[in-house]
Amino acid sequence: MSIETSVGALVAESGQPYPYERVELVEPDWTRFPGWKDVTAEEWASVQWQRAHCIKNVRQLRELLGDLVDERFYADLERDQAERATMSMLVPPQMMNTMVSHVEPAGPGSLTDALYADPVRHYMVPVFSDRRTDWSSHPHATRDSLHEHDMWATEGLTHRYPTKVLAELLPTCPQYCGHCTRMDLVGNSTPVIDKLKFVGKPTDRIGDMLDYLRRTPSVRDVVVSGGDVANMPWPRLEAFLTQLLEIDNVRDIRLATKALVGLPQHWLQPDVVEGVHRVATTARARGVSLAMHTHANHASSITPLVAQASRAMLDAGLRDVRNQGVLLNGVNADPHALLDLCFRLLDGAQITPYYFYMCDMIPFSEHWRVSVADAQRLQHHIMGYLPGFATPRIVCDVPFVGKRWVHQLASYDEVRGISRWTKNYRTSIEAAEGHDMDRTYEYYDPIHTLPAEGQAWWAQHADLDTSALKAAEVAEASRRTAALQAW
Ligand code: SF4
Repeated sequence: MSIETSVGALVAESGQPYPYERVELVEPDWTRFPGWKDVTAEEWASVQWQRAHCIKNVRQLRELLGDLVDERFYADLERDQAERATMSMLVPPQMMNTMVSHVEPAGPGSLTDALYADPVRHYMVPVFSDRRTDWSSHPHATRDSLHEHDMWATEGLTHRYPTKVLAELLPTCPQYCGHCTRMDLVGNSTPVIDKLKFVGKPTDRIGDMLDYLRRTPSVRDVVVSGGDVANMPWPRLEAFLTQLLEIDNVRDIRLATKALVGLPQHWLQPDVVEGVHRVATTARARGVSLAMHTHANHASSITPLVAQASRAMLDAGLRDVRNQGVLLNGVNADPHALLDLCFRLLDGAQITPYYFYMCDMIPFSEHWRVSVADAQRLQHHIMGYLPGFATPRIVCDVPFVGKRWVHQLASYDEVRGISRWTKNYRTSIEAAEGHDMDRTYEYYDPIHTLPAEGQAWWAQHADLDTSALKAAEVAEASRRTAALQAW
């Protein structure tokens, strides 16, 4: 069913395409899973218990769910791990517990279908049968699709935009998302992907980042990321933030952590909350805006514990907690799913919906990606329901360009799924002078979403490298023009 059809169906029932209703947050009962039937509330609230009981492999998932899930699911997962996964498995109990929470276990196999269909499962526990077999990867998919490494000013410090940088402090997270755009670097190697490793010692790398920021006054905004900053011991993160706050040109700091949603227990630890309060107090005194950016993709992830952690961060003095989700087919690429998530964030957890990124062109991600046309339709359908300041922008991270709103494209060949984008600044890898701001940069829709003519074109051209592909496109365009002129 297309996005247009799914919205249209509900117009008839409610009078509005989206029927808003305030929803009470609920923490699903973890004791419904056989493996956690004796887990106490105290254990659940403990970050140590959560970290120690993460699901890291098929065996541990089987120990948790037992025969409530058919063997075919475990086999499907095992095959994905061996042949497709770009991220290793790491699911904290908190995240696992948000899956299949609406289904009562009722004997062997009773959770199988619900688990296959579950939106959080789709990206946290991907299985082989989820993936496309026709075009599992786009011909232009690359490990570092955003070319962040090419733009490193110092190791791990990506300087892409004129006034802001991304500091990748560490390459690990408390949870690993199957679609991770930093799959090149983040997490453990998988049978399919050998991860890049940082070369410098952590202290040297961080020192180099701070030095660069001190000598680059044009940078005013630092995204402190990873990985996930929740995996950095708090005293070390606080020391880094304190030094960052001493750099006069730094006016905005954003802490990137999916753990607020995946492992809220981390951000609820008293010593962490006190530390955030100290840093936020300093930031406020210096007129620096300190915020937290998290990453929730589906409404079911927003539970009372997540709301409690978000409240703790705001009470500790952060200016805002914002959400940057990823637009994923099978998870949230539907106006209702997006709006449900946004209202749950806003009403229940005081988290501001901020962005939805289109899933990047990394290997084996085609089943998650949507076309730019669909992203534009989604943006249209979610307008007008949320306050303007909390209406998320759907953005495309265009290779060599950066974030662009999905309506900002310069041209779009919907048959071949090739959109072209321009930019209004130079990234750090481009010469100070040049024609780079005149040229266009391509982004590619998933091939299986294209009309037959477009799919046939890619079947002929998929093996060509980028320059040859470009030449072929130009040749084809001139053939078309010639044909039109002849006509
Ligand atoms: S939390 Fe972010 S960095 Fe970590 S695996 Fe998920 S998407 Fe990647």
